[in-house]
Amino acid sequence: GTMAEGCGQQGELALVGPAAGAPSCPHGPTLLFVKFSQGKEEGRRFYACSACRDRKDCNFFQWEDEKVSHTRLAAREEYNRSHQPSFTHRQNVERYKSFVQLPLSKRRFCQECQQLLLPAEWEKHSDHQFLCDISTAQLKSPSQLLYPLENKKTNAQYLFTDRSCQFLLNLLTDLGFRRVLSVGTPRLHELIQSKASQEEDFRVRSLLLDIDFRYSQFYTEDEFCHYNMFNHYFFGGEAARETCRKFLYEDNGEKVIMVTDPPFGGLVEALASSFKKLMAMWKETGKEGHDNKEMPMFWIFPYFFESRILDCFPSFNMMDYQVDYDNHALYKHGKTGRRQSPVRIFTNLTPRLIVLPVEEGYRFCAICQRYVSSGNQHCEICNSCTSKDGRQWKHCVLCKKCVKPSWFHCNSCNCCALQTHSCEQTDAGCFVCGKAGHKRSACPSLS
Ligand code: SAH
Ligand code: ZN
Ligand code: ZN
Ligand code: ZN
Ligand code: ZN
Repeated sequence: GTMAEGCGQQGELALVGPAAGAPSCPHGPTLLFVKFSQGKEEGRRFYACSACRDRKDCNFFQWEDEKVSHTRLAAREEYNRSHQPSFTHRQNVERYKSFVQLPLSKRRFCQECQQLLLPAEWEKHSDHQFLCDISTAQLKSPSQLLYPLENKKTNAQYLFTDRSCQFLLNLLTDLGFRRVLSVGTPRLHELIQSKASQEEDFRVRSLLLDIDFRYSQFYTEDEFCHYNMFNHYFFGGEAARETCRKFLYEDNGEKVIMVTDPPFGGLVEALASSFKKLMAMWKETGKEGHDNKEMPMFWIFPYFFESRILDCFPSFNMMDYQVDYDNHALYKHGKTGRRQSPVRIFTNLTPRLIVLPVEEGYRFCAICQRYVSSGNQHCEICNSCTSKDGRQWKHCVLCKKCVKPSWFHCNSCNCCALQTHSCEQTDAGCFVCGKAGHKRSACPSLS
């Protein structure tokens, strides 16, 4: 679900983008959207929250041409201030230091407030559920201790399975990376942190950028920045920005890679705009040889966003590896008999360097020069391994391309589709896949 659905009946909604001078909500500068009403050619533009696609989570709304009174501006500033977390990151770091000094019997974690408690605070949380005897191991795996946020629209957290997380880490260490900018990947960050503290010769470091402020209870300012990836906003201001900049500076030739696994809403272009700013930050570190290069990146996202990601980042390629998740029933690994995950890795690294596990059925296609799924057959006519979803696709001579095995060529639509489709054409491209012929609510990618 995205905001587009909120406007469902009245018309479609599109992102214009970040705009200079945009007003701010508690999540930083808002984004400019345009809403099209039925029967009207021109849409009306308005500002809304970049991070929350559900009005219940952040109800900021302002027409672009709206005059806002001084009183309302002052009230808004006050509102933004009062909607910041109750402890600062610095305070949380100090609290953590006190917490680890406590004997096990005094280490409590309030499950309702999702907060480590110091003994003086027990009273206040006396009628809340809490966990006792919080061990050092638990403190080192906050993604297990915290419950995954499950608000479907705003912040659904889908945590990597161990298989996927280990695969990503092995892949990037084999490729020689020593610094990982983890943007919305707390579990990868956690795996790197815990390995670094346990194995002496493991030299990879990670900086987590995430909007989930609960993580500030477990990591210092050098390990975590409270960050909004839809508007490139550092909640911690210039100091946090500087932490990130320093991290991207490749001291002693320690190569940097960014790994990100954003929520799957419709705002691909907003994400791309932020990621380009992070790439620019890397470039500006002024290292020799950065001039004509891009910061290496893994963008983890469903395959049906491929065309929109490639529009933003033409240097990227989609890999066949299926990333799967612990707490998402549908996005599990195919080999376990469940449905196959649609989530893939998009990267600007040379595809043949991304070695996929042969024991999971991936094989190397010598013509395409990349690893592909076992079911992904090389099509002689397309001259490429064309399957996107892992199943074997079939070539349609009329469409001049490979299509899903369940599709048939429809003569009235003049393209391939499910046999059960209705032959209605709409001109506007779909909000999800960008293709004409359907609205996002009917997008075949989502079914
Ligand atoms: N698979 C990853 C988690 C991905 S879930 C892992 O296991 O590590 C998406 C992540 O993005 C969550 O951690 C969530 O808190 C974060 N996130 C959601 N909206 C965000 C935003 N606007 N800015 C930054 N991070 C965000
Ligand atoms: Zn509590
Ligand atoms: Zn091939
Ligand atoms: Zn083909
Ligand atoms: Zn048709």
